[in-house]
Amino acid sequence: MKVYHYSHTARKKWAHYVWIFFWVCICLNTTAQSTIEYDIVLSGGRVIDPETKLDAIRNVGIINNRIAQISTEPLKGKQTINVSGLVVAPGFIDLHIHGRSNVEQEYQLHDGVTTALELEWGVEHLGNWYESRKGKALINYGASVNWPFERFKAIGKYKSGVDSLLQITLKGEATIGIMTNTILRAANETISPAEMDETLANIKISLSEGGIGIGAPIGYLPKTNPNELYRVFQLAGELNTLIYTHVRNPDIISIQEVIADAVLTHAPLHILHINSMSLGNIQLSIDMITAAKNKGFDITTELYPYTAASTGLQSAIFSDGWQERLGISYGDLQWVASGERLTKETFDAYRKTGGSVIIHMMKPEWIKIGIAAPGVIIASDGSSYAKLAHPRTAGTFSRVLGKYVREDKVIDLMTALEKMTLLPARRLENISPMMRFKGRIQVGADADITIFDPNTIIDKATFEKGLEFSAGIEYVMVNGTFILKNGKTVSSVFPGQAVYGKFKK
Ligand SMILES: [Zn+2]
Repeated sequence: MKVYHYSHTARKKWAHYVWIFFWVCICLNTTAQSTIEYDIVLSGGRVIDPETKLDAIRNVGIINNRIAQISTEPLKGKQTINVSGLVVAPGFIDLHIHGRSNVEQEYQLHDGVTTALELEWGVEHLGNWYESRKGKALINYGASVNWPFERFKAIGKYKSGVDSLLQITLKGEATIGIMTNTILRAANETISPAEMDETLANIKISLSEGGIGIGAPIGYLPKTNPNELYRVFQLAGELNTLIYTHVRNPDIISIQEVIADAVLTHAPLHILHINSMSLGNIQLSIDMITAAKNKGFDITTELYPYTAASTGLQSAIFSDGWQERLGISYGDLQWVASGERLTKETFDAYRKTGGSVIIHMMKPEWIKIGIAAPGVIIASDGSSYAKLAHPRTAGTFSRVLGKYVREDKVIDLMTALEKMTLLPARRLENISPMMRFKGRIQVGADADITIFDPNTIIDKATFEKGLEFSAGIEYVMVNGTFILKNGKTVSSVFPGQAVYGKFKK
């Protein structure tokens, strides 16, 4: 009746139709909500969506792998979980991990992560690796093309190494340590123009196998001719795909090198762990990245919320002069296998055998600057599993939410969630279109959801005691399936799906 009356009093016909349209929508929506039975309903939680800035109590209805409804009205579900008192957030997206198995993924999901990507180093034999993870992963997985490997493959005398790495990948035993030790044997090779061309051709093939951009960790091959890196940037610029880089050395000149390469080639660029790359110059680095962004260049960065770094003691980072470059000495290095601090003697001995070290080299105020800086993404750089592995492997996201949001009030909850959900999704969505459905709590988005108690969430892993699950993450859903319930891993479900780059054939 109301519609009929309105039609006679309205002067403009279009307004009439618009009104009817909205009225019908509202009716349909109300009817739909009361009659549809959702697979799962998350009821009464504090829903936070960093894109729309929604921060309110809502009921969320899920059908299959997608969010189908977000409403103040009660929803009917085959399964209803009361999540009142908890925050319902998009699942956290970690752009930077190194663990390749479910052992690491279990720590990640207890930290709220629903998508964990190896983008710094990338993965060797990418197509085979993607295939080997199918139907077996707890959370979503993906990787970039590994430039050092594609380069290694292009150098004839390393051919047998290529095949042995494939065997390791196929057995599913691949760890970053085995891979880097083999591939970095070629780090100091000068490559010919033909080998350079072959490297670029190899990169293109791996992009077609699903690689999410190109991992260019030049810091592990710091003697590489700048021309080589520039050529890789040129390729990324031509293809409009993303370069992730651990810069040549932890200093401003190395950051300027990659910004210059990106500006000159129009390659989109993501600079990894700006904290350990800039050390005391973190503000200057962030200012330069912001200036580039303001001039229209597609350059971003990230950090992890800890004052120590971690890597292999055998890597080029510890070649002569490391004390000056990093501003530290032997006692600042912690051997992961035993937890001991190093001396000159143990440093020399362990550098020969190889293994992980934790590098205590940053000040707490540098980390605060990075976390507070607008647009800087949170990413863990989590290691392969070891009991005393760097605690970022298990605690990065809970630490930001517990320590930096709740305790130290460095940023607010909405901003923190944006840095771990929406910003990483947006960073990737031009080169991995499926990321448009992640990082959001919106109708139509993938049901990758992390539900936590904002009053108790905190990291538990420490440098002294090693890895431990974070506290306060109560439920984690990946593609509509619970993988964590009441703070416990759900066994025998493998809802993790592959995330591919746009060139996947
Ligand atoms: Zn790195």
